Amino acid sequence: MTVSSPETVSTHVAGSWIDGAPVVTAGGVHQVVNPANGSTVAEMALATPADVDRAVASARAALRGWATATPVDRAGVLAKLAELVDTNAEAIIAEEVSQTGKPVRLATEFDVPGSIDNISFFSGAARHLEGKATAEYSGDHTSSIRREAVGVVATITPWNYPLQMAVWKVLPALAAGCSVVIKPAELTPLTTLTLARLATEAGLPDGAFNVVTGAGGDVGTALAGHPDVDVVTFTGSTPVGRKVMAAAAVHGHRTQLELGGKAPFVVFDDADLDAAIQGAVAGALINTGQDCTAATRAIVARDLYDDFVAGVAEVMGKVVVGDPQDPDTDLGPLISMAHRDKVAGMVERAPGQGGRVVTGGVAPDLPGSFYRPTLIADVDEASEIYRDEIFGPVLTVRSFTDDDDALRQANDTAFGLAASAWTRDVYRAQRASREINAGCVWINDHIPIISEMPHGGVGASGFGKDMSDYSLEEYLTIKHVMSDITGVADKEWHRTIFTKR
Ligand code: NAP
Repeated sequence: MTVSSPETVSTHVAGSWIDGAPVVTAGGVHQVVNPANGSTVAEMALATPADVDRAVASARAALRGWATATPVDRAGVLAKLAELVDTNAEAIIAEEVSQTGKPVRLATEFDVPGSIDNISFFSGAARHLEGKATAEYSGDHTSSIRREAVGVVATITPWNYPLQMAVWKVLPALAAGCSVVIKPAELTPLTTLTLARLATEAGLPDGAFNVVTGAGGDVGTALAGHPDVDVVTFTGSTPVGRKVMAAAAVHGHRTQLELGGKAPFVVFDDADLDAAIQGAVAGALINTGQDCTAATRAIVARDLYDDFVAGVAEVMGKVVVGDPQDPDTDLGPLISMAHRDKVAGMVERAPGQGGRVVTGGVAPDLPGSFYRPTLIADVDEASEIYRDEIFGPVLTVRSFTDDDDALRQANDTAFGLAASAWTRDVYRAQRASREINAGCVWINDHIPIISEMPHGGVGASGFGKDMSDYSLEEYLTIKHVMSDITGVADKEWHRTIFTKR
């Protein structure tokens, strides 16, 4: 796989990486399209279910060697991978921007450095597995804990942050000693393939990191329901995540699901209004709102409501929508025309359900799947735009009467991925962080993530963690080893079974 410049078609058709090498599969040719202008970025062969079998067999064959490599050896390979991603950052940024349409500034300052830091983190984590102390808990035995790689990991990732989502799944698995087969979203496979190629270059054994590209309905289904994997991890929408879980359950395989979100953004009446306005726009529009933790439901104290709505509309009006390659662009296109139609449809239906479009609500006159930053005030709690995931540059606003009402509204959702509370009152901040049901609650900010801390949701947002030491738990089993230290044949506990021999 070579990196194409943003506007040229790659001549390479190897859409899979199996057993440490590019593979031209027989599932038909797929065009990766730049959503900013509809141009073809790359053409590649899609995998078939038979290729999934091959990739899983390759991962199975590589497992023992990688799982029994010393922690320092695993860490060394992962550290080298971080170095290679850094060295190749410019090309990776170009790939990520061209396949997703995300602004080059975002890819340069967030996606790629964040991925490098995450890879480095897991390089270190490979040497820091923890467990209970070895001891004679029974008096007659020494008990110790072994933490072992769970085995072959099947993982499926979405299109919104293709590189980061691949890193979040693959790196903790490799650090734990697992081997991996990943299926990236069909729309955005390029940087995952590059990551696998660089991992091989870094010294990862062939077969430890395989990529199969193709649509969810065939390649994804074949991978999620494969009998010879040991755990299935997934990032994507809630309905698809539940299908993946059902497919894995047929074989009793472990799952980890990072699903959709509908993050509340609660502004109490003592908040710094300017900070809340700026934070709301940034939190709602990051990655064109295609972020599972994006601020989507602003819930604002009655006294601040009108000023908040006016301030957000003003800042949204200044956001630069346009060519993702231009460093001055703030907002790129949505991932596809089909997705833009979905977002536009939800916005168009909102007024009929009580919402007031304050700004945006239209597509700019640009080629590509662009959509203007949109603010919808006075939304009804029962409305679709308030309840369902939009995954676009759209913020809804409602007011609240008192703190109980604010927290009730924040929790009035099936999702529970992320939330924020804006206040200068330490007691309110503590209460909000305790009472909001979400995997992450920010206080006076919304969006920042950090490799040392976990990411993952509750409720319809799934379960399990990405990032941090906690994510290693998804890829490890705990084995208790209990050794008799008495050397006595006639053990006391045998009397529960028989008294005389
Ligand atoms: P999606 O439609 O659920 O797809 C996610 C992945 O699943 C893609 O690779 C897709 O393949 C594959 N897939 C589709 N149907 C499948 C099936 N029946 N069996 C197995 N795999 C299948 O999600 P998306 O539209 O790509 O991404 C947006 C969603 O991801 C949003 O809901 C967002 O909130 C969520 N997300 C969550 C997090 C988190 O950490 N919680 C992070 C990022 C995104 P194809 O697309 O190639 O068909």
